[in-house]
Amino acid sequence: MLSISELCVILLYIYLTEINKMNYDIIIIGAGPAGLSFARSLADTNLNILMIEKSSIDQISQPAPDGREIALTHLSVKLMKELGAWSHIAPEVISPIKKAKVLNGTSPYFLNFDNDNSSLEALGYLVPNYQIRKALYEQVKNLENVEILTDVAVTDVQVGSISLSNGNKFEASLIVAADSRFSESRRKMGIAASMHDFSRVAIVSRMEHEKSHNQTAFECFHYGRTLAILPMAGNMSSAVITVSSDIANSILNMEPEQFNLHVQEQFKNRLGSMKLIGKRYSYPLVAVHAKKFVAERFALIGDAAVGMHPVTAHGFNLGLRGQDTLAKEIKAAIAKKKDIGSSIVLAKYDRKHQAITKPLYFGTNKIVELFTNDTLPAKVVRSVTLRFANHFAPIKRMITNKLTEKDQKAYLPFIKL
Ligand SMILES: Cc1cc2nc3c(=O)[nH]c(=O)nc-3n(C[C@H](O)[C@H](O)[C@H](O)COP(=O)(O)OP(=O)(O)OC[C@H]3O[C@@H](n4cnc5c(N)ncnc54)[C@H](O)[C@@H]3O)c2cc1C
Repeated sequence: MLSISELCVILLYIYLTEINKMNYDIIIIGAGPAGLSFARSLADTNLNILMIEKSSIDQISQPAPDGREIALTHLSVKLMKELGAWSHIAPEVISPIKKAKVLNGTSPYFLNFDNDNSSLEALGYLVPNYQIRKALYEQVKNLENVEILTDVAVTDVQVGSISLSNGNKFEASLIVAADSRFSESRRKMGIAASMHDFSRVAIVSRMEHEKSHNQTAFECFHYGRTLAILPMAGNMSSAVITVSSDIANSILNMEPEQFNLHVQEQFKNRLGSMKLIGKRYSYPLVAVHAKKFVAERFALIGDAAVGMHPVTAHGFNLGLRGQDTLAKEIKAAIAKKKDIGSSIVLAKYDRKHQAITKPLYFGTNKIVELFTNDTLPAKVVRSVTLRFANHFAPIKRMITNKLTEKDQKAYLPFIKL
């Protein structure tokens, strides 16, 4: 039989051992835009945060252009402002999208979205991805409670602990994975995901053109391919061509002059002559939705939770929103002096973010399915869908409201690719 003092010593020993194990409160895997924004959201807490990124410090502090132009909703701009990152993006690279037109097949008919709310400058804003990443890094690099380790990959994840490629191990109350749509940690923590390989590739590039785009985004669902032309600052647009994987190389390898004529012709000369500026980048289109966003002392954010097909431009918008939801649940737990990694806290995040992402994910995949189906019945449905949306004012208003986020509960469907 143990005496009370012996029992106290044992309990103290167990307590101290446990305390020592918790090296950090939170470990974030991945310093992409989702991981960085989450770290910044927790800047005003006392939480001790470790961030692990496999690429180099130069790659995250001075990210190179990657061809992605990100359409941000008003809610995302608000969140970026709250994080202090918006003011780090030069105004001249932010391009307002004032109108959007959706075309189908060979028809000149289009579904039209205007910004009819005079209090808002635009439907949304187009910003280069690398500028977003740079601005977020600027906001995180000097935070006292965030330590960033670069050039080292997370190789294993267990409940409350991670192992690194350099042999180090760390422990935390909560591990948050922001390690891309192909997240290895998601798999290691036993979380299943719906994955859809579209067998298509998005080829993105910047193009200068003769005529003004008038801040209009165009989405052309041609037969066999889609072309999005997104307004950048000046007489420049981002061209996004989506084609079946087997013909992607033939477009990527075209001589620049041939490529210019190809896009010009596909876009029916609407912007006059067009000229490729810089490189073409390609992204194989695979969409992912994790069945749950949490496991024991573990949460998924960003593309690791939901990796969207870019057609509706939801990806980073959802990533920003998800990290904000998780950060708010964590702060609420701190205020109530509760365990930040408890299943109750994580379940709230899971429930809220699943409710927002699931309909968008599966809805987007259905849109892609319909508008890349070139059979005769599908062509008819495609045409009817656009005409219906154009003439049925409540539907159009709902989409525009969501786009501008006049309705704060709503969320953007931004037709883009
Ligand atoms: C062509 C295209 C257009 C897009 N357009 C839009 C748009 O208009 N609007 C929009 O909202 N979204 C858009 N998106 C989506 C958006 O780009 C993504 O949602 C966003 O970049 C995902 O950020 P993330 O931080 O979750 O993941 P990522 O950017 O993939 O970052 C993951 C990070 O984790 C690191 N990492 C991975 N594994 C490990 C490991 N084991 N150890 C350590 N580090 C690791 C990686 O190095 C990387 O830095 C588009 C995407 C594409 C491809």
